[in-house]
Amino acid sequence: MVRIARERIADLFALAEREAGRPDGRLADRYVQLARRVGTRYNVRLLTEYRELYCRGCSTYWVEGRTVRTRLRGSRRVRTCLSCGRSRRTPIPLGRPGTAPPAGINLSSPREEEVLVGPVSDEEEELADEDGSEEA
Ligand SMILES: [Zn+2]
Repeated sequence: MVRIARERIADLFALAEREAGRPDGRLADRYVQLARRVGTRYNVRLLTEYRELYCRGCSTYWVEGRTVRTRLRGSRRVRTCLSCGRSRRTPIPLGRPGTAPPAGINLSSPREEEVLVGPVSDEEEELADEDGSEEA
């Protein structure tokens, strides 16, 4: 069952990615919701690469410039959901040879500091809103 759930999650994120490329990508958010629900139902953690792709607050599938804003602030990458305003801060893994910057980082465009209007939460809190259990 766990294996099927993982496949289902992968399928749903593939659908979400495809849908997000269309002009009206609202279905992508629905696919994210379903994928998260499958994960909860079968106690399967979403892969880290998937967890970067959506908002933890409202399950919006993140499309750079449309549903998420990414800014670099100090040594952190701050991604703000443009649907609900929730932000997610992650350390920037710079300086590790052979690794590309994470998706969404644009090192070539320094931007002004932005004022956040939504609730701000830390990475630790982000991790806690999942079911919190490890895979079997
Ligand atoms: Zn959101």
